[in-house]
Amino acid sequence: MRVYVGIDDTDSKRSMCTTYVGAVALRRAESLGARRLDHPWLVRLNPNCPYKTRGNAAVCLPLEVDPSVFGDVWRAVIETVEELADLESGADPGVVAFGEDARPGLRRFYFRAVREIVELEEAMELVRTFAIAHWGYGEMRGLIGATAAAGAVKETLSTFELLAYRTREMWGKERLVDPESVKEMDRAYRGVTFDNYDYEKGEVRVTPHTPCPVLLGIRSVRADVLTGALTLLRVNEPIEFFEVYRTNQATDIHYVERQVQSVRPLESVVVRGLVAGRPRVIPGGHVLLEVSDGTGEITVAAYEPTGEFRRVVERLEVGDEVAVYGAVKPKPEGLTLNLEKLEVIRLRDVYAERAPRCQDCGRAMKSVGSGKGYRCKGCGRVDPNATKVRVRVEREVREGVYEVAVSARRHLVRPLWLQASSGSDACAV
Ligand code: ATP
Repeated sequence: MRVYVGIDDTDSKRSMCTTYVGAVALRRAESLGARRLDHPWLVRLNPNCPYKTRGNAAVCLPLEVDPSVFGDVWRAVIETVEELADLESGADPGVVAFGEDARPGLRRFYFRAVREIVELEEAMELVRTFAIAHWGYGEMRGLIGATAAAGAVKETLSTFELLAYRTREMWGKERLVDPESVKEMDRAYRGVTFDNYDYEKGEVRVTPHTPCPVLLGIRSVRADVLTGALTLLRVNEPIEFFEVYRTNQATDIHYVERQVQSVRPLESVVVRGLVAGRPRVIPGGHVLLEVSDGTGEITVAAYEPTGEFRRVVERLEVGDEVAVYGAVKPKPEGLTLNLEKLEVIRLRDVYAERAPRCQDCGRAMKSVGSGKGYRCKGCGRVDPNATKVRVRVEREVREGVYEVAVSARRHLVRPLWLQASSGSDACAV
């Protein structure tokens, strides 16, 4: 029989990673006779979820299991979670097993868990109605992510990530990956792998900064190149094992199109509108501006880590037509959209008043005094009737789509080069 085993909430800020728990459980399940139906799935859920530890990841293991060994496989998965989850530090794991028939009934829940905040009771209802088996610990909040991961829609899992894990004695220590080799790998696999290195900030992006078992992760649009990419990295510590996941990272599926009046906190939205207030730079180098769409006005923020992206935001003018993509955060002064992407749809013509040019020699003129006309700085000709002229100012920004620095990019956000090459609109999913 086909079973989709969902696992979530096994880690704390102190240690562990649900992908590691899933990968170990997968190996133990295989040793008991379970077969992989696919790569394991690394499913990112709502990036604004207040309960997340880091990247709001859950895991699904799609398996073919003989009914006679399902009990053994299930017990092995639960034992793995009990053994590895950081239960003392507040992890509330949940594990579910759904059959193939149940998956259509989970589809809507999956999309909601990516785009909204859902209640544990909603997951419990689905589990009680459709699951073959379930297990939870503590508050069992992990059942939300586990159910959503098991219900993930495969068409939305269009990218891959190879995760290499460290041996236990290295957990919490500095990761020994040669940065130059990351750049070499990035160059060799450009257009296939992505977000390996942030050239703007000079930062390696394949290694996380958390004390978890993950040594490094390589993201890609193809699974078959990933082991080759790994071999190009000079890794100066042992790799316990690695696993290639199918994932919904870099797909933009978290965005919903909204008018300002219907924007809700903790969702990720696309709002189209006009710049309603001059961009302002606040202490820390963050750039804020207002966007209005006729139904209301929202503050949009490009924070310092977004890098050079802020220069584009700074150069916008009142009346420019834009689409802003980002996470809606409640702030004391109202809702703020934390920018992840910006489309400058139409730049408004901006005019300035300048001194006129001399009609004889073409040089710039200078005012003689209020209402007294202008004198040419070159030939000295005085024109008492000359007045200021209105000229169109060359804008320092171009129409187009802009993205934040690689190091500031959230897991679900699709890089622009990938958007251009796939051409699909994730909001339509
Ligand atoms: P890591 O990425 O390191 O694996 P994490 O960031 O995934 O960690 P978890 O420890 O898994 O964080 O905690 C996230 C918790 O939030 C889980 O209990 C999960 O079930 C729950 N959750 C996930 N998405 C939602 C959502 N949309 N609404 C409500 N709860 C959610």
